[in-house]
Amino acid sequence: MPSSKPWQELSPAQVLTELGSDWSGLTESEVVARTRQYGPNRLPEPPGRSHLRRFLGQFHHVLIYVLLVAAAMTALLGHWLDTSVILAVVVLNAVIGDLQEGRAEKAMAALRTLLALQASVVRAGHRRTLASADLVPGDIVLLEAGDRVPADLRLLKSHELRVQEAILTGESVPVDKRTEPVAGDLALGDRSCMAFSGTSVVTGQATGVVVATAAETEIGRIGHLLAGVEQLTTPLVAQMQVFARWLTLFILTLAVLMLVYGHWWLDYGFADLFMAVVGLSVAAIPEGLPAVLTITLAVGVQAMARRHAIVRRLPAIETLGAVSVICSDKTGTLTRNEMNVVTVVTAARQLTVDGAGYGPDGTLMEDGRVVVADADPRLQELARVAGLCNDAELQHGNGDWRVEGDPMEGALLSFATRLGLSAGVLKQQWTRTDAIPFDTDYRYMATLHHNHQNQACVLVKGAPETLLDLCTEQRAKDLTGAPLDRVWWLAQVGAIAAQGQRVLALALRPVSAGQVVLARSDLGEGLVLLGLVGLLDPPRPEAVAAVAECRSAGIRVKMITGDHGATAQAIARAIGLEQPERVLTGVELDGLTESQLASVIPDTDVFARTSPEHKLRLVTALQARGQVIAMTGDGVNDAPALKRADIGIAMGQKGSEAAKEAAELVLADDNFASIVAAVREGRIIHDNIRKVIGWTLPTNAGEASVILLALLAGLALPVTPIQILWVNMVTAVTLGIALAFEAGETDVMQRPPRPRNQPLLTGRLVWYILLVATLFLVGVFGVYRLALAQGYSVALAQTMAMNTLVAMEVFQLLFIRNLALPRLTWRRLLGSQPVWLAVALVLVGQMALTYVPALQRVFRTEAMPLSALVLILGVGVLLFLALEGEKQLRLRLGRRGQVGQNRV
Ligand code: ATP
Repeated sequence: MPSSKPWQELSPAQVLTELGSDWSGLTESEVVARTRQYGPNRLPEPPGRSHLRRFLGQFHHVLIYVLLVAAAMTALLGHWLDTSVILAVVVLNAVIGDLQEGRAEKAMAALRTLLALQASVVRAGHRRTLASADLVPGDIVLLEAGDRVPADLRLLKSHELRVQEAILTGESVPVDKRTEPVAGDLALGDRSCMAFSGTSVVTGQATGVVVATAAETEIGRIGHLLAGVEQLTTPLVAQMQVFARWLTLFILTLAVLMLVYGHWWLDYGFADLFMAVVGLSVAAIPEGLPAVLTITLAVGVQAMARRHAIVRRLPAIETLGAVSVICSDKTGTLTRNEMNVVTVVTAARQLTVDGAGYGPDGTLMEDGRVVVADADPRLQELARVAGLCNDAELQHGNGDWRVEGDPMEGALLSFATRLGLSAGVLKQQWTRTDAIPFDTDYRYMATLHHNHQNQACVLVKGAPETLLDLCTEQRAKDLTGAPLDRVWWLAQVGAIAAQGQRVLALALRPVSAGQVVLARSDLGEGLVLLGLVGLLDPPRPEAVAAVAECRSAGIRVKMITGDHGATAQAIARAIGLEQPERVLTGVELDGLTESQLASVIPDTDVFARTSPEHKLRLVTALQARGQVIAMTGDGVNDAPALKRADIGIAMGQKGSEAAKEAAELVLADDNFASIVAAVREGRIIHDNIRKVIGWTLPTNAGEASVILLALLAGLALPVTPIQILWVNMVTAVTLGIALAFEAGETDVMQRPPRPRNQPLLTGRLVWYILLVATLFLVGVFGVYRLALAQGYSVALAQTMAMNTLVAMEVFQLLFIRNLALPRLTWRRLLGSQPVWLAVALVLVGQMALTYVPALQRVFRTEAMPLSALVLILGVGVLLFLALEGEKQLRLRLGRRGQVGQNRV
């Protein structure tokens, strides 16, 4: 096995030989053979819950225990029919619960695969991004800041690499890594030329070769398993579950008291009384609630994933609905991140470039004339910097050119080709000997190159302000160095940026051939500015619509970018930010006190040339103003701001692993519109949770009060215990689940965000519970008494009462779906398939119970005449009208305009 070797003691060349690999990586056929030999690079997952255990888990509820005791008692009393009904209901309930939980678990498992780790590798000479599970020993892996090391690597080349190895060594201070071999059987933390799977790259860049994968890695050996299945819950749902548990306890106590009361004072027969009390408990306890809430979350998580927003921490689902400010990056989130060099400015010339995509075809124009690039050595120099000071790779396939790496660098590669110098040729002429990777704090990248004529040069590209500070000269017409005209260049930068283009400066410095290491201090003296390029990165059309949606939803969008102020402003205008005119730069931000910042922040939407520390400061300042912040980020340094924000959002494609780990949400498509879609889903889920609660609690209260009143008053029960068991366990759960699938109300993104700490059990909900319970009492007792008065048998009267109960539940469901809408439309009333499916199911069940002779015997029901059906339907409609009337009355009584508060 390759892992058993002391890799740290061997030189890079020896390691490559041992592993049968080289700098250009493995060939595809090698990879296939090794995958067969070593398997996928995946740690064994902790064994999940087996299906049987999940099913058995469904019986682990107080209520089920109560029912099982009831089943035993009825069996002892010889009431076999009751026993079998109870047991059937228990099993049916377990099956429904099991199906729901299975769905929830599947939703979570799907999220995990969506968040699978990616790795950058070199195979057959080409750079590629692939799932880290596909790595095999011998693969060449590229690491950069923010990455999670995907396998155990022997480092071959590194630049200022520092790795946090706490997961393996417990040491939280990042360690420096080098490539020189180290002798002896050292502790993991001292193997400085190794990078271990699961550790995180804090700074720098490196290339390494995979020496061990999967269980053979150090992390695999210590048996550090992945975190288990996350519980599908949020604070609101957890709060509800605790509430449901206390309510259960309370109701069971009440039930025992009723048993005592009924037995001693009312002289009921024990068997009847016992069944009535069981019926009472079943009716009152919201047993379906936790399961329905879980499925509501699972449905929501899936809906978000479909909209490319992957939830990493579940409480985020709830917070999303309360977001009041979205702070977004620009590049790739609000814009497409499909770059193209369109402007070139040198000291002597101004050119435009015409060409689509990353292909080599494009035309250079100057004053309306086509220009031949290879005739101008200054443009050749520009092309050399663009093509060599570059980590990206262009790949051709299916008639299309694709970028592997940073799209901006891809655009520079195609620009070099359009100038007549392909990166392949350039790389053959000039070997890269060292590099300083791009870093948001410094805003430039530099590389050192040597050619065969014993010449060497440093090539630099970066933000123009930075390069203007570093350069001392500029390339003159005659190819000599002339003094830098800073003011002139800044004016050029402003002009290009004002067109919404990203401006990059390119510079070069010849150095002595003996220099093989590059440090930041080498850049100073003698750096010659060659020119500027302007890159076009158009706004995403869907971002424009999403920004408009945010406006109507009372959500402020702020752009926080590392780019130039003028570029940012032009994009801000194009996508329709509320206040694009005022731009605050990072430097200006540094000059503001906290109170000054607090006063400018509400009306500033564009922050430019910011660094990750500024993001943190902005989040904190906005939160101090009571805002709920969603903040995007991609780099390793963005992690603190993402953690601090109420909703940290990482980019799935260009984001670093460090950012993803700090985030609550990962955007699979890096698209701003997906954030807004997630907020929308968050609001819908929150609404649905409230609807589920707002439907379940009053329904339970209504059912229970029917039995309670009958017991207390010593009346005959209008609905038998067995019937109530059926209604509650089966009907209620079916109807309740429909709410989990509710599509959002039409105004979901037209109302302001809900306050962060809105309580769950509002006074309004308590009032609503009382109202519905009373109406249920009136309806059920009313129909029961009416039936008896008409001379119907008790069994028929009970059948009618039971069907009334179900009808009222159905109509309450129809009402609660539209609770927030001030005006009811037929479309709203008739919409939503899941609700009608559930209603249809319940209807079939009720009809069967009422008219199928075998079931009539079990549930002691009788066939109802048509007039009874009409009566029951009428009672349901009346309930709906009463509730809708109450809603309209309340709206009229001065709450008009605050529709958002009209929820339970
Ligand atoms: P956003 O924060 O909106 O994504 P951004 O991607 O422009 O914006 P940074 O990545 O911080 O932000 O880049 C800041 C500036 O650094 C850019 O405007 C550009 O001038 C320069 N820059 C970006 N990438 C590179 C690179 N690979 N090499 C050299 N300079 C770069």
